[in-house]
Amino acid sequence: MPTSLPSTAGTTGTSTDFDLVVVGASYAGVGVVAAAREAGFSGRIALVGDETELPYQRPPLSKGFLLGKAGANLPLKAASFYAEAGVEFVAGRRAVALDRQAQRLRLDNGTTLGFRQLALTTGARAAALRCPGAELDGVVSLRSLGDAHVLSERLGAAGSVVIIGGGFIGLEVASAAIALGKQVTVVEAGPRLIGHAVAPEISAYMHSLHAGHGVTIRLATKVERIEGDGGKVTAVLCTDGSRLPCDLVLAAVGAVPNTELAAAAGLTVEDGIVVDELCRTSDPAIFAAGDCTSHPNLVAGRRLRLSSVQNAHDQGRAAGSTIAGRPEPYKAVPWFWSDQYDVKLQMVGLGVAGGPAILRGSTSEGRFSLFRYDGDRLAAIESINRPADHMIGRRLLAAGRWPTPEQAADPEFDLRSLA
Ligand SMILES: Cc1cc2nc3c(=O)[nH]c(=O)nc-3n(C[C@H](O)[C@H](O)[C@H](O)COP(=O)(O)OP(=O)(O)OC[C@H]3O[C@@H](n4cnc5c(N)ncnc54)[C@H](O)[C@@H]3O)c2cc1C
Repeated sequence: MPTSLPSTAGTTGTSTDFDLVVVGASYAGVGVVAAAREAGFSGRIALVGDETELPYQRPPLSKGFLLGKAGANLPLKAASFYAEAGVEFVAGRRAVALDRQAQRLRLDNGTTLGFRQLALTTGARAAALRCPGAELDGVVSLRSLGDAHVLSERLGAAGSVVIIGGGFIGLEVASAAIALGKQVTVVEAGPRLIGHAVAPEISAYMHSLHAGHGVTIRLATKVERIEGDGGKVTAVLCTDGSRLPCDLVLAAVGAVPNTELAAAAGLTVEDGIVVDELCRTSDPAIFAAGDCTSHPNLVAGRRLRLSSVQNAHDQGRAAGSTIAGRPEPYKAVPWFWSDQYDVKLQMVGLGVAGGPAILRGSTSEGRFSLFRYDGDRLAAIESINRPADHMIGRRLLAAGRWPTPEQAADPEFDLRSLA
């Protein structure tokens, strides 16, 4: 088993054969190689990534990193992991073409890697802002460590920031920018903050939290164009005619799955690379996991594309086990978190719009959970500074047990009695 790190396999113009090639070196890719080895996969493995760092944690990039709390080096695994697991890490190389018939992958330097099995863990990228002025200096987005360095530097120099998009990343950056003493405006096209992911009550709570910290929030507002002077951003113009002067714009308008390689190779892609519960694509030799996939979600009872660490890590592990010959269906209950100011927002399950939502705890004290039901079924728990509710919720939903709405509403009822 090779133990070198980094690999020489990416050297320009060479051709090397592997038993398993994994494209995309982040949560899902690392999950694939770790689980494959743990399940006894003994073949030669290459992990190819177009970023130059060892796979690292992304969530801190919109949180502590901007406040100097988390260092620039946030590896998912120590460098020794790759050597010890016999994973050849081909860093800073982009996979540009996939020949499924020949089972070869071409990298951007002309190198080819042969494979018997392939895993696509190419993740997602920040969605581009599509309006005049989006190309101006001072309009940035956030996905990678490199982006975070740029944003951090720009934030330091900025006085006034407009954040386009009131989702998780936009609001996390807003909270960091406020802590850094900036003037912050969040422009959100929808009728409420984080509207795609949380209950209206949680949106309302987060709205007053941000407003209370001095963020100006403009809901149901679209950006028409961005104005500049000498190539540098000076203001955001909204469709309602308002003009928001600023010297920095963060476009936080969602993520787009990186499916181009898969689609060009003829794999089935429908808002994500289509996989089954074992993370198999439409080609039996090719697997996919993480943000780039559309998977049949057992909890939702339908196909979904999720963007979360939990999903990427757990799907990656399911793919790795299956590749090693120990099929393990992906059936995890989705969970997610977000840190804004001193608030920890945690979600488990998938909320269903319109169902009853039972409050547990105190909104005025800023410590509460919403138990969201779909008929009699508990669909999700969304918690503000109530980590114990979240943790027990993860256990209960995974076990298919939950409190009745009456039990959830009763502060004396011990949720742990159901576990
Ligand atoms: C700022 C930020 C904050 C976040 N906060 C949270 C949070 O609080 N909680 C949470 O659960 N989730 C959070 N997320 C989402 C989470 O980080 C993602 O869901 C997770 O990173 C997905 O992992 P992945 O391995 O599927 O893909 P990614 O992490 O996107 O990694 C894919 C990798 O593949 C590389 N790649 C793509 N195409 C190619 C190619 N052709 N050749 C070689 N390499 C390629 C990419 O450059 C990238 O390095 C956050 C994301 C961001 C950006």
